[in-house]
Amino acid sequence: MKLVVASHNRHKLGELRQMAAGLPLELVPLGEIAPGFEIEEDGATFEDNASKKARETAARTGLAALADDSGLEVDALGGEPGVRSARFSGMPCDDGRNNALLIERLASVPADRRTARYVAVIALARPGGPVELARGTCEGRIARSPRGQGGFGYDPYFTLPDGRHMAELTPEEKNRISHRGAAFAAVRALLERLC
Ligand code: IMP
Repeated sequence: MKLVVASHNRHKLGELRQMAAGLPLELVPLGEIAPGFEIEEDGATFEDNASKKARETAARTGLAALADDSGLEVDALGGEPGVRSARFSGMPCDDGRNNALLIERLASVPADRRTARYVAVIALARPGGPVELARGTCEGRIARSPRGQGGFGYDPYFTLPDGRHMAELTPEEKNRISHRGAAFAAVRALLERLC
């Protein structure tokens, strides 16, 4: 069964595909089914954006749709970049520039106040049906220098309680403890029923 993923982020798609392995589902990116169809992420919360992306994708494609809206909340920045994580340093989205801005904004913040969390909200929608939502979080801190080659986005700077940076984890390790992994675990039963 086809499930359209309302995202153009190939890293997210890769992680979601790995988490869905074992389910009789083919995760297809929206760009393959409806090239050029863009959904504006103008919501104030991860829930607003994930719902909108899943609902509009299901309506446009006539297929069941899954959307992930996620980001980084940094306590010393009052929860920023939050829903603006992808475009923190402006458009077009650029992970390197986003990380540079994050580190600059935290330059004078001491280690004990560099707490942060990743948040992911996954929404599942069927055409004309209700939208189901699940939220997952992953707590950590923002380091001063990067480590690791894995993951994407803020992962080189995001430090877990055991001292490893998210980018140092294998994909399997990241999926086990990540915000996206937690949200996906909560929608897994819904996906099983959908199949
Ligand atoms: P979205 O496409 O609006 O949901 O943007 C998500 C953004 O949040 C990404 O572009 C990253 O900047 C950040 N983000 C979300 N999940 C992760 C993750 O697992 N690792 C690193 N950065 C993430």
